[in-house]
Amino acid sequence: MLAAENRPDGAVAVPVAIAHGDGIGPEIMDAVLSILTAAGARIEPRTIEVGERVYRAGISSGIDDAALETLAKTRVLLKAPITTPQGGGYKSLNVTIRKMFGLYANVRPCRALAPYVPTLHPKMDLVIVRENEEDVYGGIEHRQTADVTQCLKLITRSGTERIVRYAFEYARANGRKRVTCFSKDNIMKITDGLFHRVFDEIAAEYPEIEREHMIVDIGAAKLAVNPERFDVIVLPNLYGDILSDVAAELCGSVGMAGSANIGDEIAMFEAIHGSAPDIAGRGLANPSGLLNGAVMMLAHIGQADIAQKIQNAWLRTIEEGLHTRDIYGAQSTRCLSTRDFADAVIERLGMEPQHLHAPAIGNAVVTARPAAHTAPAPQKERVGIDVFIDWTGAPTSLLAERLREATAELPVELKMITNRGTQVWPRASEMTRCVDHWRCRFMGEAPLSGATIAQLIAAIEIAGLETIKTEGLYTFDGVAGYSLGQGQ
Ligand code: NAD
Repeated sequence: MLAAENRPDGAVAVPVAIAHGDGIGPEIMDAVLSILTAAGARIEPRTIEVGERVYRAGISSGIDDAALETLAKTRVLLKAPITTPQGGGYKSLNVTIRKMFGLYANVRPCRALAPYVPTLHPKMDLVIVRENEEDVYGGIEHRQTADVTQCLKLITRSGTERIVRYAFEYARANGRKRVTCFSKDNIMKITDGLFHRVFDEIAAEYPEIEREHMIVDIGAAKLAVNPERFDVIVLPNLYGDILSDVAAELCGSVGMAGSANIGDEIAMFEAIHGSAPDIAGRGLANPSGLLNGAVMMLAHIGQADIAQKIQNAWLRTIEEGLHTRDIYGAQSTRCLSTRDFADAVIERLGMEPQHLHAPAIGNAVVTARPAAHTAPAPQKERVGIDVFIDWTGAPTSLLAERLREATAELPVELKMITNRGTQVWPRASEMTRCVDHWRCRFMGEAPLSGATIAQLIAAIEIAGLETIKTEGLYTFDGVAGYSLGQGQ
């Protein structure tokens, strides 16, 4: 690849960090870089080391400071898959990069290439836009009692605004007609409820794009049976993690899909598959997934013309039946090595596919900075507190009695006790199975002071009951910001 000053056309080359990865990584990266060079990509690669060797050198994140520094400068990374060594202590490199650099959107186009790549859904052509930073992926987990563990699910308004706006901007830039939101807001009314509500608010800014919302379970079922009906799907992190793999598998081409991780400052592009150690070094790997990641990268850095040229040549190669072993089948004419496949794409640069549709690639760079908030911050008032208690006694009325006795002098009232979310006091069903984890809800006259809260906890502890944690109960502009107990 030529540096900017050496390029005959004088165009400025964009510095791009390149990670060759592990397993099949180096061979597919070489193949991809040779295609980019032949296509005239205006990039200046800067190699960084990530992955297995870095892990083995004792750096548990899989990326060292020098690589991080390069990445902070280039702001764009093309990454081949890496091997995460087995055993504890190693952190996922992807999660590290995603979190350190705020890569909030994971974008994964899933398009069938029938009949050249067999699939039950030949017309499928959708894009999954997955929120990448929030939800249960904060990794905030605790064991709280002998029996009970918890994982905190965080959904923010600002994070949701960014991902939803990104999805609509992506749809607009890529001529997509509809954005579907998946959530589970019939159950998680506050967290997924926020995701859905923000989706509706932002959708209103894009009247030319159709919008719909589905509960994730029925949405997933429809996706599995009829993926052709979807266009762009935006969804929170966990649902997106699961369903983006389902979608890639459905279009028959897990080995061929690329993905982008986009942040306001930095973006990372890769194949969705792993390092395939079983076929490493044998020239069998399909470089298409990484190539498709690179095509997304070129669009991101404003080189849609080159991205289009590569995409067209690649589609032409596929439809001529020139295939690597993983997709070799009835429609194939020759079985090619990684290197020969790359050369076949290079030979077809400048050609268009004759059967497969070649979608127009725009300079689809979209960052979705949150809009400046003009609405005043809501009036927040503490109206109560949930105190979680580790207790193994029975009956529940005994716990209630002890709590009421302990807090009799304080300006709060015990209103409810739940166990695993189900109300067990003052009303209860005999059939509710109780564990050693009790949520005890105290309400008081608003605003409840910090001193009252401190006295409440102290009184409960002095009474010999163990408080595991507390959650403040707040209203925002008078609207309750907490859920009721099941059966309340
Ligand atoms: P994998 O995707 O590497 O391999 C699964 C199967 O698909 C294997 O049979 C493999 O030969 C085949 N395959 C994958 N990519 C191919 C390609 N381009 N061409 C032809 N065949 C291909 O998944 P795995 O075996 O579960 O994981 C291997 C390693 O990769 C693990 O260490 C895992 O942690 C890592 N991994 C890394 C990433 C990443 O870096 N983004 C993603 C997933 C897995």
